[in-house]
Amino acid sequence: MIIDLRSDTLTQPSPAMKAAMFEAPLGDDVFQEDPTVRRLEDKMAVIFGKEAGLFCPSGTMVNQIAIRLHTRPQTEVICHKESHIYLYEGGGIMSNSMASVKLLDGDYGKISAESINDAINPDDDHAPETALVSLENTMNKGGGSIYTLDEIRPIRKLCRDKGLKLHLDGARIFNALVASGEEAEHWGEQFDTLSICLSKGLGCPIGSVLVGSKEAIKRARKIRKAMGGGMRQAGLLAAAGIYALDFNIRRLAEDHSRASVIGTELGRHPLIEKVVPVQTNIVIAKLKGIKPEEMIAKMSESGIKAVKFGKDQIRLVTHLDFTDSMLEAFVQRIHRIN
Ligand SMILES: *Cc1c(COP(=O)(O)O)cnc(C)c1O
Repeated sequence: MIIDLRSDTLTQPSPAMKAAMFEAPLGDDVFQEDPTVRRLEDKMAVIFGKEAGLFCPSGTMVNQIAIRLHTRPQTEVICHKESHIYLYEGGGIMSNSMASVKLLDGDYGKISAESINDAINPDDDHAPETALVSLENTMNKGGGSIYTLDEIRPIRKLCRDKGLKLHLDGARIFNALVASGEEAEHWGEQFDTLSICLSKGLGCPIGSVLVGSKEAIKRARKIRKAMGGGMRQAGLLAAAGIYALDFNIRRLAEDHSRASVIGTELGRHPLIEKVVPVQTNIVIAKLKGIKPEEMIAKMSESGIKAVKFGKDQIRLVTHLDFTDSMLEAFVQRIHRIN
């Protein structure tokens, strides 16, 4: 049995999800006539208390559309230095939006209102005009760390006071909400736009949704078109998203408790220096006396797959297809590695 913990994107759509996909009524979504896409977009918007939603093929696309929406050429985006939008979106902030980026430090991938305030450029000809703040929750590079609403509110207030837009890369926002018990609607209130992935912990084969005001989503649809993201009978894919919102959110708690066990076991392992506190479904472990490539090779020989994450770290992510029996096997196998 191979235990694949490289990512929560590796899940296979379940038979019930596939059945929902094949039964979905379809239409041409570029004509805005796909009833299933409309249902998914509306459902996600309602969950976050927003007016409208836009279904897109990837999380990168929804983030890039949001950045384009909230910036102009020569403006600047403020985000954490390890943000997905900066590290893993192919330089899209520059190529799609012709915007500059200011990168901030912060523990576990999180930034504060105070550091954002210090990073806002003065109104003069030399500096790019600060336009957008983008946060990530959960924070991948922070080990699946979560922001609380109490941390967000001062950031929201600052952005309002300074006339900045606020975007959330909520690829794993449902992991955060399940872990904190906070309400999606309260999160929706705090941001101009939020992007949510269906293809991570929610177990869909494809898809992300951007939510925001009617006006923002109308413009976002136009940007999506220009990026080549207008899709036709996309209800086939959106149906998986509707299924996931109905059945795959609450179960994320299981992924979190399994990740917590993995964190504890790795913490006792002689080749592990320390484990970043496990808050959701991501486990990042810093190695001791062994290179990530070697550790990953040893784990792979034992049928466990993980990824290198920085120069002395590995990452493991729990998901829908990682079961309790796999967890038991994981614990046995990991302690045989030395
Ligand atoms: C996965 C992910 C995305 C989007 O990635 P895609 O692979 O383009 O769907 C965005 N932000 C974060 C934090 C992610 O983990």
